[in-house]
Amino acid sequence: MTHGRTYGEQRFSPLARINDQNAGELGLAWYLDMGTRRGLEATPLVVDGVMYTSGSWNVIHAIDAGSGRELWRYDPHTQRERLRSACCDAVNRGLAVWKGKVYEGLLDGRLIAVDAATGGLIWEVQTIDQTYDYSVNGAPRIVNGKVIIGNGGAEFGVRGYVTAYDAETGEQLWRFYTVPGNPAAGFESPAMEMAAKTWTGEWWKYGGGGTAWDAFAYDPELNLLYIGVGNGSPWPRDIRSPGGGDNLFLSSIVAVNADTGEYVWHYQTTPGDNWDYTATQHMILADIEIDGKPRKVIMQAPKNGFFYVIDRQTGELLSANNFIPVTWATHVDMATGRPVENPDYYYTERGKIVVPGPLGGHSWQPMSYSPLTGLVYIPTQITSFPYSKTPVRTYKKGLWNLGMNEQVLVPGGPPPEKADEAPPNSGTLIAWDPKQNREVWRIQQDGPWNGGILTTAGNLMAQGNANGNFVIYRADNGEVLWRMPVQTGALAGPVTYMVDGEQYIAVNAGWGGAWSLTAGGKAQGGKPIATGRLLAFKLGGAQTLPPPPEAEPIPQPPPLTASEETIAHGALLFNNICFVCHGAGAVSGGSTADLRHMAPETHAAFKEIVLGGAMAGAGMASFADVLSEDDVEAIHAYLIQRAHDEQAELAGQ
Ligand code: CA
Repeated sequence: MTHGRTYGEQRFSPLARINDQNAGELGLAWYLDMGTRRGLEATPLVVDGVMYTSGSWNVIHAIDAGSGRELWRYDPHTQRERLRSACCDAVNRGLAVWKGKVYEGLLDGRLIAVDAATGGLIWEVQTIDQTYDYSVNGAPRIVNGKVIIGNGGAEFGVRGYVTAYDAETGEQLWRFYTVPGNPAAGFESPAMEMAAKTWTGEWWKYGGGGTAWDAFAYDPELNLLYIGVGNGSPWPRDIRSPGGGDNLFLSSIVAVNADTGEYVWHYQTTPGDNWDYTATQHMILADIEIDGKPRKVIMQAPKNGFFYVIDRQTGELLSANNFIPVTWATHVDMATGRPVENPDYYYTERGKIVVPGPLGGHSWQPMSYSPLTGLVYIPTQITSFPYSKTPVRTYKKGLWNLGMNEQVLVPGGPPPEKADEAPPNSGTLIAWDPKQNREVWRIQQDGPWNGGILTTAGNLMAQGNANGNFVIYRADNGEVLWRMPVQTGALAGPVTYMVDGEQYIAVNAGWGGAWSLTAGGKAQGGKPIATGRLLAFKLGGAQTLPPPPEAEPIPQPPPLTASEETIAHGALLFNNICFVCHGAGAVSGGSTADLRHMAPETHAAFKEIVLGGAMAGAGMASFADVLSEDDVEAIHAYLIQRAHDEQAELAGQ
């Protein structure tokens, strides 16, 4: 009934009716069309036979968990044009349910409470100042009658915080800022005064980052709430904090008193974050024996590629080891608890390839811990990125303000340093022993951006993946027991539950999110993706999916008439602004429009869409505040060029 199943968020279920002996008999029990081609990232909740989940644009669905019949649907009419202020798709990672109410954080910053029986709105509060580029897409957590919610926006330039609201009334109870504000305005807490000593320059002008947009965990015995804190804003620390410093609490796990929001301890995974290495990744609490002693630990595999085992009472680092090859650091020094950075990989204006890139060695698809096998199952990936520093600091409201050199972000430009070291993108499901802090076995996958993981007492591990399958493995050795094609990539964490004596396994399958949007990462090897669906499986399930969608013909692009100079200007703008949703080089991953394939009427309406906001209702806000008519013509010309490039590629095949 709560995100990750328990406060410790192990994503392990004690149900064993479906197990390693009978999983081969699984089949589809039911599915619900979620009415979207955008990403689905929500982990459903199941309470008393009713499943609650969020889809695109914060629509909440209540479903009979046995039959799949929708009981009610609530559309909070989130302000879709706010998608411009949100990284990485119109997704939501889940709901909270408590004492007859369903809670959701909305893209536009609202936190809402809805009647679990009827779907009627009970209360709503605005958790952000909408004049800044904040967004909310993480699942709220309920702790001691309080609703906990963070926010996102570090890529744009905001200051992160977490707020607790009274679950009954929506009254604000406490707020914990994750990075300090302007010291001249006074500090909200002793923790902020302490944190400010680790910053230099005028970081507060553009927020500093540190947004807590996903992971929390809670230990009721210690009454500690654990907050996973995000990256710095902008990314290069030399720009953000020119005199150096660790920049607390960026990329940290912070433990606070759940009743007051007062700081208790922190562990910073990436001091002075320079690479968008968020520590917002899923955190798991477990009691495990280390060096012969039982320890209460918190475990995390953040973007930076290291797996951390930390004493959750004190914050003491117990072990740290990299789970993918990384170039930014050589190891974590256990004497200091700090990573030892590799200065060879410090980047410059020209750009340098570093591993991992901003998608991380592990993104936000949740991992799972099985106390039966003693293993943590991590959806890992290897991706790299040409990090660079902008020669001139700029800030534009409503745009990504990464602090990167905009010339380096244009595909096909001069190669960055260490380009020959860029590894091919890949994905691996790793079974990790947290006692020894090492890999035990692995499953190589077709590419990055695979789904979240569930384990069960039936010795099962479940994961949807980018190649369009939902797969059940043996949890102890990774043997495939059953798989089903689901016609799209599946990112979200699966769940399992029992209704009327029947065990089900369910997952939201819908391709999207950061890899698909910013990099044009494809699911199923580039085959067209089906609409997002909520799928439930059971033993003997005999339901089938409709036939998969077929590829649509690519329209012939208009003739290319613009000058090379105009196209180059358009390339620079597109690959610094538009790529955030439409993919570097205008290659779409399938969940947003591929702008190389615009129909004649879209070409005709291009200016009206980009400047006039004609498609704001679909999340494409107007960019009239940052782009001129000439800019838009140049972007249009670049897209026509890219369409012709594709035609030439296809003709050459
Ligand atoms: Ca980030």
